[in-house]
Amino acid sequence: MKPVIGFVGTGAMGAPMAQNLLKAGYPLVVYDLREKAMEDLVKAGAEKASSAKELAGRSSVVITMLPASPDVETAVLGPQGVMEGAKSGDIVIDMSSSYPTSTRSICERLAVKGIRMLDAPVSGGVKGAREGTLTIMVGGEEKDYAECHPILEAMGQNVYYLGKIGAGHTVKALNNLCSACSMIITSEALIVAKKLGLNPEKVIDAINSGTGRSWSSQFKFPTFVLTNKFNSGFSIGLMNKDLEIATRLGRELRAPMSVGELVQQLYQRAVERGGGDDCHTAIIKFIEDWRGVKARSKKGG
Ligand code: NAD
Repeated sequence: MKPVIGFVGTGAMGAPMAQNLLKAGYPLVVYDLREKAMEDLVKAGAEKASSAKELAGRSSVVITMLPASPDVETAVLGPQGVMEGAKSGDIVIDMSSSYPTSTRSICERLAVKGIRMLDAPVSGGVKGAREGTLTIMVGGEEKDYAECHPILEAMGQNVYYLGKIGAGHTVKALNNLCSACSMIITSEALIVAKKLGLNPEKVIDAINSGTGRSWSSQFKFPTFVLTNKFNSGFSIGLMNKDLEIATRLGRELRAPMSVGELVQQLYQRAVERGGGDDCHTAIIKFIEDWRGVKARSKKGG
C-alpha cells in the first residue's frame, strides 16, 4: 500500500509536483500558508490540513517545497511544525533549494525523535514540475533514498543520489550558479550584438547551433526573453538566494568563485532595485538599463 504523503508548500512548483503524486495514486494531505494555493489540489482529491503539525500526524512521508531554509526551519521545527506531529520512523524530504548547513542541522534535530530526512531539490522549472520531468538531486542515507525512490520518480525523470544529507542541496546551488552564469553571459552577448545592429533572434539561433549554447540560450531566451513574456515562474529573488548559497559554500571551503561572485552581485543589484519578484530571466532588462540599450526583439514590444 502506498504511504500517505503530506505536502507543505504548494506554490509555483509544489502544486504541480503534488498533482503528479495524486496522479500516481498517493493519498495526499496538503498545507500552505495561503488557502488559495491548496484549492486546485483539494478539488483533485487531496485533503487539507490546518497546520504542518496536523499534516505530519496524518502522513508518514512529509515533503517540503518552501522558498528558502528559514521557511523550512519554521515549518519543520517551529511551533505547530512537522516535528511536533511526526512519529519515529517517518521521513521528511526537503525538496526546496535550501542551504546545506541548515539542512544538516534540521536532520540532526529530527533524528532525536527518530525521524529521518532526505534533501531532494529539483531542476527543470514549472514546466518540468507540470510534466513530471524534473531532475532531482538527493542527499541522505542511501537506504532511505531507495525507499523513497518511487515517490521521487512520480515527480521527476532523472533522479540522482549524490551522497550524505546536504549533498542534494549543494549540487542544486551549484547547478543554479551555472545556469545564472549562462543567463548573464548570453544577455551581455546579445547586448553587444544589438549595439552592432544585429538581429537578436538570428544571433540566438546561431549561438544555438554553435558551442556557446546553453539551456538559457536554447530554452529561456526563445521562450521568455525574446517573446518579452518573462513568465518562467522562477523569480530573481529565488535565483539570488541560490547564488548566495553557492558563493557562500565556495568561500566557506576556501574555493571562492570569481565569476560566481560577480554573477551573484548582479542578481543582488536587481533585487535591491526592486526586481526580487520579477522573473529571473528579466535580469536582462537590468543589464540593458545599465548599458543603455534594449537588446530584445521588437516582436513582443
Ligand atoms: P513559491 O513562492 O511559488 O511557493 C512557496 C510556497 O510556500 C508558497 O505557496 C507559500 O505560501 C508557502 N509557504 C511559505 N512558508 C510556509 C510555511 N511556513 N508553511 C506552509 N507554507 C509556506 O516558490 P516556488 O517557486 O514554488 O519555489 C519553491 C522552492 O523551489 C524554492 O526553494 C525555489 O528556489 C525552488 N525552485 C523553484 C523553481 C521555479 O521554477 N519556481 C525551480 C526549481 C527550484
